[in-house]
Amino acid sequence: MKDNLFMKVLNDAAEKKIAVGAINTFDYLTSDSAVNAAKELGVNLIIQTSAATVEHFGAKKLYDIVDAARRDAGITVALHLDHCRKTELGKLCVDTGWDAVMMDFSKLPLAENIAKTREVADYAHAKGVAIEGEVGVIFGTEDDVVAAQEQRAGYDETIEFIQGSGVDAIAPAIGTAHGVYKGVPTLDYDLVERLGKEPTPIVIHGGTGLSAEQFKRLISLGGRKINISTLVKNTYLDTIKALVQSGEKYAPIPFNQKVQDAVTAAIKSHLAVFSGLAEDFE
Ligand SMILES: [Zn+2]
Repeated sequence: MKDNLFMKVLNDAAEKKIAVGAINTFDYLTSDSAVNAAKELGVNLIIQTSAATVEHFGAKKLYDIVDAARRDAGITVALHLDHCRKTELGKLCVDTGWDAVMMDFSKLPLAENIAKTREVADYAHAKGVAIEGEVGVIFGTEDDVVAAQEQRAGYDETIEFIQGSGVDAIAPAIGTAHGVYKGVPTLDYDLVERLGKEPTPIVIHGGTGLSAEQFKRLISLGGRKINISTLVKNTYLDTIKALVQSGEKYAPIPFNQKVQDAVTAAIKSHLAVFSGLAEDFE
């Protein structure tokens, strides 16, 4: 696992006491925007794809799309699979070149979650690929992964999961949610603080909509990977919608450029906070 890019960016973040942004992308434009945002700041990056996106393009084609965006970027960009509930799809991404995969069996009882995650962890580790797992259920919808009910796991259960499953990064349910927040979420900073003293890096899911203050506190306690998905999707769609309604020349290349500029700016403002280069979003 020494030369694994996912572990490299996480270890680098731990050393600097910052977090690496894990940006969900779904095509070349959004992948290129994420890479450009990270490049402009000179920070590392994780690009992550949903299982639904892999199924849409096919693993090899999606790998090539993201790889074209990250190749020759001059920064370290790891490719990660987000929330995968299908063992075979996780293994396919391991075989296709993903640097890490997140298996999400968090809806199952703890023993089954451990066993099913362990199976892919062993498979991935044999091929030099890293793995993230989830314990407790993170509320909300991420593409086709739906959790209608949040379920928090305590410290002991989380440690039992880490040790049993062999994961390299852990996504605990700390009160963040996927999608758009209604109101201000109550976060379990105590759990993050206790887990932050353990060697396994903590992943914060549901990053879109948290304040810069919340991010900075989570990072100071040990949050090392912060997932941003809804922000990318909404900026992409909202910008297209505004352009179509604006009466501007109806031409794809200028539209693409404006969408790319908006997506890049939104990602960059978050990466700057995660890496300690800015106190707040611009
Ligand atoms: Zn998530």
